[in-house]
Amino acid sequence: MDRYEVLKKYFGYEAFRKGQEFLIDALLKGRDVLGIMPTGAGKSICYQVPALLMPGVTVVVSPLISLMKDQVAALNQAGVHAAYINSSLSETQIKKALQLAAGGQYKIVYVAPERLLTFDFMQFARLAEISMVTVDEAHCISQWGQDFRPGYRKIADFVRSLPKRPVIGAFTATATEIVREDIAEALGLSDPQILVTGFDRKNLCFSVETPKKKDGWVLQYVRGHASESGVIYCATRKNVETVYRLLSENDIPVTKYHAGLANGERKQNQEDFIYDRKPVMVATNAFGMGIDKSNVRYVIHYNMPQSMENYYQEAGRAGRDGEPAACILLYSAQDLVIGRFLLEGKEQSPELTGEEAQALRRQDEERLRGMDMYCTTTDCLRQYILRYFGEEAKDRCENCSNCLAAFEELDVTEEAKQVIACVEELKGRYGINVVVGTLLGENRAKLREYGVSEYPSYGKLKGRSQPEVKEIIRRMTEEELLTVSGDKYGLLGTAPKARAVLDGDKTVCIRRRTDRTDESFGESRSAGKNRRPELLNSRGLELFELLRRLRAKIAREESVPPYLIFSDRTLTDLCVKLPFTGEEMLQVSGVGESKLAKYGERFLKTVRSFAKGEREKLYFGEEAPAAGLREKALEKPSGERKKGGKGAFYITPQQAKTFSYCEKYLIPELAAVLSEFRDPETMKKLSGAEIFRWLQQEGYVEQKRVSGRWQKLVSEKGRAAGLFLAARTGKNGTEYEDIYCGEQAQRMIAGRYVRTKD
Ligand code: ADP
Repeated sequence: MDRYEVLKKYFGYEAFRKGQEFLIDALLKGRDVLGIMPTGAGKSICYQVPALLMPGVTVVVSPLISLMKDQVAALNQAGVHAAYINSSLSETQIKKALQLAAGGQYKIVYVAPERLLTFDFMQFARLAEISMVTVDEAHCISQWGQDFRPGYRKIADFVRSLPKRPVIGAFTATATEIVREDIAEALGLSDPQILVTGFDRKNLCFSVETPKKKDGWVLQYVRGHASESGVIYCATRKNVETVYRLLSENDIPVTKYHAGLANGERKQNQEDFIYDRKPVMVATNAFGMGIDKSNVRYVIHYNMPQSMENYYQEAGRAGRDGEPAACILLYSAQDLVIGRFLLEGKEQSPELTGEEAQALRRQDEERLRGMDMYCTTTDCLRQYILRYFGEEAKDRCENCSNCLAAFEELDVTEEAKQVIACVEELKGRYGINVVVGTLLGENRAKLREYGVSEYPSYGKLKGRSQPEVKEIIRRMTEEELLTVSGDKYGLLGTAPKARAVLDGDKTVCIRRRTDRTDESFGESRSAGKNRRPELLNSRGLELFELLRRLRAKIAREESVPPYLIFSDRTLTDLCVKLPFTGEEMLQVSGVGESKLAKYGERFLKTVRSFAKGEREKLYFGEEAPAAGLREKALEKPSGERKKGGKGAFYITPQQAKTFSYCEKYLIPELAAVLSEFRDPETMKKLSGAEIFRWLQQEGYVEQKRVSGRWQKLVSEKGRAAGLFLAARTGKNGTEYEDIYCGEQAQRMIAGRYVRTKD
């Protein structure tokens, strides 16, 4: 067998991912490797495939019992003989397993580093033919990494004690140069082939949301994604308890995890989550290390994490199966305060000198501010993350809440002048909160204490919102018009470039989202592109649900987590390919020979009885979407996004023809009457906001601030297309102008949603 055959036969995949082949070939040629790949990139395949092609056995050093258990269960499911040796087994079980391993029963043996030099393991190692030693989570060997594990230092001794030096493969997702060098040296890698793949996780959609009520938002989102598994991270145990209570009181199958729970309860809760008995987990950051659950469809951060490093690691637990998943951060200005408070209370090692301790504090403070910038930027979020980690990135990814949102440019030069004046009056002695409070003319105790009401700039931006003024200051810092001190106070000062603004030689603009409404609770942008409901039509989703239930049933029978039977991606691909025979089912991504033999018949039966012998098309679009969606995005109007389990809104050409166009409709009215055509069970409602966003993107309408108030306007292009402004009376009796769609405009808008029925 060659490596492709192994990949297909055992793992059921058609092709290697970026980098995998390179590392596999090196290992097969006997060269040490160091693979640095982000979570979910597919590191395991890099050593599991060569392990199956090499003679003898591969020893995999892994830091956590749960990780080993998961990997071994997955391998056994795939028909590979594997075992683990760790403290969850009794001494007798260990002896037995090692005996079998020495007798050639297993191709892959997972072991905790502390076990390597024990008598029993050494005896096995001398008897067995060990062709490869693989080190998983290799950064644990480095004191510079976040998770130093002294036991990892024993690996090199172990390798030296073997009669024949095996080839060594080391894998991690941590990429800093110093950790990388440390790994190579401490493991004694000889001229290793090093591969660093990009940090980008294309299937993840990143969003930052600023709901007024986070609780309501979370509840709505979780309800709207009832069939999906997700994690909600909170900054404190108290928050975990509150969110947990909220969800469980609303009958959501939810569990929780934090360091304050007893060991037994933590373990039980973790299992409930992994086995999808309770698919929603509310946890502090104590949860997650070693969790390999591949079908986590969303990770919500209820509070802002302390650093981008933490955020990316936690959010990265979504979508390990390569299927689209959402990473949503719920931000409020309060989060920075909580973050600072947590930093204050963070214990520092007593071994540090005062200077080192201070340097670390500064670094923490900078990281926190970097995280705050992520939450408030209006630029592409993916670009922000990748550049933070030192990678090149395109300006726009088209799959984050900022790229998918509607924005308008606002000239805030006048406001910027006020900010500069204020910072100068305060003589660089205060941070952003005092500056903003002063400009807004707030009457807080702290501000009174500082006597800011005496300054001429006090109240100069009264009437503006706090986030808006903060955004102006953030933009000014980015453009190096203002400076921020690197200490924990973040004191604002003016930079030399500020002069140009005062002299009228430079303008300052901010971008402002026009689609942030509280109705958009847990939908729209946060769902991301290419989610399952956008690929599969309503019949497809129906079949998916049947297959998901079958998977849950088998998982219960076999006491394994459902995702180890088939991943969500495999279920989706089953709906797309609709196999009737075993041979056809082997073409489905993630179906290898062993799984076909074990589960093929039951899944095929469900598919066949659902399709009743008809080759029905269960997906949108002309071509079958590729498994994993990495390669394929379906072309659809940008407004079509997912809500709950429903498909995007559309009307048929016939409906567009028979629609009763009339003299004028307000945009929300038009949305409502068009929505009457849909089947509410399967199709999302069309919203006025969505139509407005599109009209704005296309330049038909705009929104501008006129004497301090937001006003909607129709452009020349809009007027030519049949849009016009006319008076209407608001709820409280005030009269104002709003946009109306004339008949021509109604036809244009309806036409945009026409699609032939699938
Ligand atoms: P990592 O260890 O890098 O976090 P994993 O090894 O757990 O990632 O792999 C993540 C997921 O990707 C798993 O579900 C795995 O089966 C899948 N996978 C790995 N390689 C491929 C491939 N070549 N084609 C399709 N899926 C793959």
